[in-house]
Amino acid sequence: MRAMYYEAFEAMPEIRVVPDPTPTENGVVVKVEASGLCRSDWHGWMGHDPDIRLPHVPGHELAGVIAATGRGVMRYKVGDRVTVPFVSGCGRCGECRSGNQQVCEAQFQPGFTHWGSFAEYVAIDFADQNLVHLPESMDFATAASLGCRFATSFRAVTDQARVRGGEWVAVHGCGGVGLSAIMIAAALGALPIAIDISEEKLAFARTLGAVAAINARDTDDVAGAVREITQGGAHVSIDALGSPVTCFNSIKNLRRRGRHVQVGLMLGAHATPQIPMAQVIGHELEIYGSHGMQAWRYDAMLSMMAAGKLDPKRLIGREISLDEAVPALVAMDGSTDLGISVITRF
Ligand SMILES: [Zn+2]
Ligand SMILES: [Zn+2]
Repeated sequence: MRAMYYEAFEAMPEIRVVPDPTPTENGVVVKVEASGLCRSDWHGWMGHDPDIRLPHVPGHELAGVIAATGRGVMRYKVGDRVTVPFVSGCGRCGECRSGNQQVCEAQFQPGFTHWGSFAEYVAIDFADQNLVHLPESMDFATAASLGCRFATSFRAVTDQARVRGGEWVAVHGCGGVGLSAIMIAAALGALPIAIDISEEKLAFARTLGAVAAINARDTDDVAGAVREITQGGAHVSIDALGSPVTCFNSIKNLRRRGRHVQVGLMLGAHATPQIPMAQVIGHELEIYGSHGMQAWRYDAMLSMMAAGKLDPKRLIGREISLDEAVPALVAMDGSTDLGISVITRF
C-alpha cells in the first residue's frame, strides 16, 4: 500500500510503498477513504509524542470500509462503513469497564501507538469495542473529521464542561477544535465567544454561532475583554489551541465557579504552563482535560447531526491527496487554513 512514512522526527516525510497490514485476532483492517490532517500529527512528527516509535506512518482521523477482520471480531464484517475514536480502549482495564475508554490504560491510537491512516489501509485493534458504524447518508470526509477534533470538542462541551443553554462559553483558538466547540455550544443554546488572531476565522466562527468575537492580536487584555462582554466572566472556557497564553487566558477569563477545559495539546516546551492558581482557589474554578471521546458516546453526536443541529461538514476546508498532505503536514504549525484539510485521494 501507499503510505506517508518517516524514519526520523522533523525529517521530510515521504510517500512510499509499505507492506499491507493484517488484522490482529480482535482487530480489523480498514480501507481508508478519508483521513483528516490534525495538529496532533504535526506534534507527532516533531517528536513531541512519546508513544511514537520510528519508522512511523501518521494519521488518526479516519473513516473507511472494513477490508479484513480478525477471527475474534463479532460485531463487524467486511464491507461495513466505519470510523473510530482516535483513542481506542482495550475493553478490559478498569477505565474501559467504567465506560471511560478515552483514558484506557492500554489504549490503541492509530497514528501514534501504531501506524495510522495516512495510507491506503490501516489496522485497528479492539474492533468490537471501538468501531462506530456510519450512517449511509454520511460521506467519508465528514465522518473522518469526527474522529478527533469534533468528538473531542463534543465531549469537552457536553460531558466535561456540562454546558447549558444561556451560558457564556469562551473558545480560545478557532482551528478545527475551536470551531467545532462553537458549533456544539451554540447548538446547546449557549453563547459562544470566538477568540483568535485571524479575522477570517473569527468571521467564520460567527457564521457557526459565535455571538461575539475577539481578535487577540488587537487586544492587550483578552481575559478583560471576555469579562466585559459577559459582564463578569465566562461560565465555561475552552483552550482549543494549546499554548501557554491561551491556557492562561482561558482560566483567567472565567467567572466565579467557572469551568475551564483544556483540549489543545500542551506538549514539548509547553507541557507545564503557568496558570492563575490563586484565582482557581479563590473563585472555586474547575479545570478539566478532554481527551477524545468514547465510541458509545458517538450516538448522541450522530443524533444531533441527524436532527440537523450539528453540521461538521461545514468545518471541512479542503480535500487533498496523500501526496499533497506531506507539505500540508510539515506546515501545520502556524497554519492559517480555514477549516480542516482531509485526505480523500490515496
Ligand atoms: Zn482499557
Ligand atoms: Zn486529531
